[in-house]
Amino acid sequence: MAKDTAKPVILWFRKDLRLDDNRALDAAHRSGRPIIPLYISEPEAAGTGPLGAAQAWWLHHSLEALDRSLRKRRSRLVLASGEAFEVLRAFIRESGAEAVFWNRRYDPAGISIDVRIKHELEKQAIEARSFGGQLLHEPSRLMTGNGTPYRVYTPFWRALEGGGEPEPPLEAPAKLRLASQLPKSEALESWKLLPTKRDWAGDFTDLWTPGEEGAHEKLRAFIEDALDGYKENRDYPARPATSMLSPHLAFGEISPARIWDATRGLSKRVAAADVVHFRKEIAWREFSYHLLFHFPRLASNNWNERFDGFEWRSDDDDFRAWRRGMTGYPIIDAGMRQLWRHGWMHNRVRMIVASFLIKDLMIDWRRGEAWFRDTLVDADPANNAASWQWVAGSGADASPFFRIFNPVLQGEKFDPDGKYVRSYVPELRELGAKYIHRPFEAPRSMLDEAGIALGQTYPKPIVDHALARNRALAAYNATRDAA
Ligand code: FAD
Repeated sequence: MAKDTAKPVILWFRKDLRLDDNRALDAAHRSGRPIIPLYISEPEAAGTGPLGAAQAWWLHHSLEALDRSLRKRRSRLVLASGEAFEVLRAFIRESGAEAVFWNRRYDPAGISIDVRIKHELEKQAIEARSFGGQLLHEPSRLMTGNGTPYRVYTPFWRALEGGGEPEPPLEAPAKLRLASQLPKSEALESWKLLPTKRDWAGDFTDLWTPGEEGAHEKLRAFIEDALDGYKENRDYPARPATSMLSPHLAFGEISPARIWDATRGLSKRVAAADVVHFRKEIAWREFSYHLLFHFPRLASNNWNERFDGFEWRSDDDDFRAWRRGMTGYPIIDAGMRQLWRHGWMHNRVRMIVASFLIKDLMIDWRRGEAWFRDTLVDADPANNAASWQWVAGSGADASPFFRIFNPVLQGEKFDPDGKYVRSYVPELRELGAKYIHRPFEAPRSMLDEAGIALGQTYPKPIVDHALARNRALAAYNATRDAA
């Protein structure tokens, strides 16, 4: 054990709010030096825009949870805000720290900040060490035979699957050595991350327990109750069939290596196809980061430039109806209200609502991406941008533009008895399964019996899907002709 006079190492937490499988933490601990655990609220690191309101709520609770875990190990979290390099410099001066360790992040704004900080610290003879762990593999590691980045998911997956197992996860240290002189922490409350005027996050706790304990509990429950059958069930939004690990991954409360490891050796209890399918979804996250790393403008520019000439509509009334879940298409409205109520939406429904915004309403995918960024607890710079471009047809390996989801048929296929719609659109609760996805076709007597007055208690459709579909295809063909 090093003496108390040893100079501390600053452990800079970012999107890795965990002690388990945290390589920077592990290295700091093994160095034997006292540790200053630090989180910096960096306004400039948001890059693609300010931290969304839903994620601000999550961050507040996640930082509290991280502090609790550190205290159990005789340590605690120090909070500071400002430009990261300035904060680190002040802390180094005050504490005499001789090293700063962190885990790498892969969003463009984060990368450019980190590169500069590493350079500046090294100039001042401060040891600056960064580690992997946010992803299974570094986004630059997997490349095609030509040495170029992958643009298509399936060969990427084959390379990932065939490229050897990810590094095994590391256990959290049982005890941590805290620096004796800790710089003063800011108060978390002073960051005002929680809703102030109206508690729109009141229902979030129905679903979520931010922090690594919550993450591990979600993983355990998923493997126990839902992984078997995942491949089939994952498309049905009323079934509790997916892991709901996405916000925990977005904040780094659990590592993908820990998840990968937990799905090893389950073949006696769980069909191999389900494990592979789940791992393939984790690999979509890797692929999205691979795309973002090699195409940093993923959230702002069409990957496929042909879409630059697309004539988007800028109808604010339609956009508002979509955001508020008042389009008159029950599956869309249920999804958008699930998003508002719980800060999350089922993947199948995300695809349907995104298709509706982009194709039926012809509103620019970037407006949808920004709304999701503000309202999702799992908003992720890579997954969100890549997924929106996938639906739009403008992305790498995207769904073709002409694949336009019919919101009624999608609802009937994936929510056949209307259970999902009824849980988020109470106005339709009494309507039978036959018309639950098409109330605008229900006989008047049936609507009366269900207490529904279309246009009053529940909206009429804001567009006719068949006409909207033709309009979108015509706009797409015009783009193609112009290209
Ligand atoms: P599971 O089915 O349990 O999957 C496990 C994990 O795999 C997820 O937590 C996620 O990390 C990853 N994953 C699953 N599907 C995808 C996918 N299609 N692309 C990339 N990674 C995936 N996911 C986000 O994490 N953040 C976002 O901001 C986000 N925005 C999206 C926007 C649109 C328009 C669409 C269509 C999808 C978006 N997704 C996003 C992907 C997907 O919907 C969510 O990851 C998933 O619904 C999260 O639920 P889960 O953890 O229960 O998923």
